[in-house]
Amino acid sequence: MTILYTAKNGTYTNLNDILKEEKNIKHNVYVNLTNKCSCACTFCLRNTKEMDKSNSLWLDREPTSDEVIFEFEKYDLNNFNEIIFCGFGEPTMALDTLLKIATYLKNKNSNLTIRINTNGLCDLVYKKEIAPLFKGLIDTISISLNASNAKDYLNLTRNNFGLESFDAMLKFAVNCKTYIPNVVMTVVDCIGQEEINACQAICDKIGVTLRVRPFE
Ligand code: SF4
Repeated sequence: MTILYTAKNGTYTNLNDILKEEKNIKHNVYVNLTNKCSCACTFCLRNTKEMDKSNSLWLDREPTSDEVIFEFEKYDLNNFNEIIFCGFGEPTMALDTLLKIATYLKNKNSNLTIRINTNGLCDLVYKKEIAPLFKGLIDTISISLNASNAKDYLNLTRNNFGLESFDAMLKFAVNCKTYIPNVVMTVVDCIGQEEINACQAICDKIGVTLRVRPFE
């Protein structure tokens, strides 16, 4: 199973394979912890592509923190640009594992930057505020904003929590500002300029950066 991977030209490559070819380039390293997610987004790769056990990012089971650390021990962390928790599923669904790995990485190399790409719904999953747990461990959090209002957001993400999920996700983003240096929200470029402008206004209001990313 692929636990650590890197992305090149829009495709995912096992880290070990790419490092054999490109030893002198600093790579972003993605950590694939879980298939689970609290959303079922209409655009999710898991729905739109042939994603089953034959897919290389599908995990037969979730790796333990020790197994992920064992993988990292094979490499020199100085050769990595950024570590990103972003896998086939939602990384905060494996929160304890994520925190243990981030602690290991920061202890090993405090200059290493660590990012989480998330749907921002972990407060609802765990029924408590999660952002304080990221203090000193996570440098950037990238939260999928997806839409400018609760109804469209729920229609797109089809999450388990109903209309209240939109405000909960925004509250999580605001909380993150206290504990994480760089808080980014993302939308895809195909939602239209009017909707992008509305999302920009939300980000301006809560004081975070909006990143408009290409739809893959
Ligand atoms: S939050 Fe991400 S992993 Fe979860 S369903 Fe949506 S796109 Fe897929």
